[in-house]
Amino acid sequence: MTYDPNNIFAKIVRGEAPCFKVYEDAHTLAFMDIMPQAEGHTLVITKEGAESILDLSPEGAAALIKTTQKIAAAVKRVTNAPGILLAQLNGAAAGQTVFHIHFHVIPRTSGLDLKLHARETANFEQLKTLAAKIAAAVK
Ligand code: AMP
Repeated sequence: MTYDPNNIFAKIVRGEAPCFKVYEDAHTLAFMDIMPQAEGHTLVITKEGAESILDLSPEGAAALIKTTQKIAAAVKRVTNAPGILLAQLNGAAAGQTVFHIHFHVIPRTSGLDLKLHARETANFEQLKTLAAKIAAAVK
């Protein structure tokens, strides 16, 4: 599939669509998932336009995992979750719904089930507050 530069994450990168931003550097951006599977669910994306890990440059992949590590630590500090799940889906058959490479950073606690993928939109005021807390916890 050809990369669609009008996908929602590409629009967020270009500032054409809003997001609850947590972190930004020259190559990557992190923001709250608006349909979180757990409180604190954050997405990390590249600024490079690539549909999946298979299309991403090695430099983009390196930047993406570096930022993902940074954000995972910040999400853990803020949520106090004992576990952090990283998920990265490639292709519709794998469950990918937005065709711009991203990592999911999802806090996990034993016995607390994840909500369904991309189903229920969260309260935007709560997302805004969480984004500010996670942003402040990035080292
Ligand atoms: P995936 O299915 O791995 O492609 O995940 C896409 C994720 O993007 C889902 O978890 C959605 O909840 C999330 N999502 C979709 N649109 C937006 C948006 N405008 N801002 C933030 N997250 C979004």
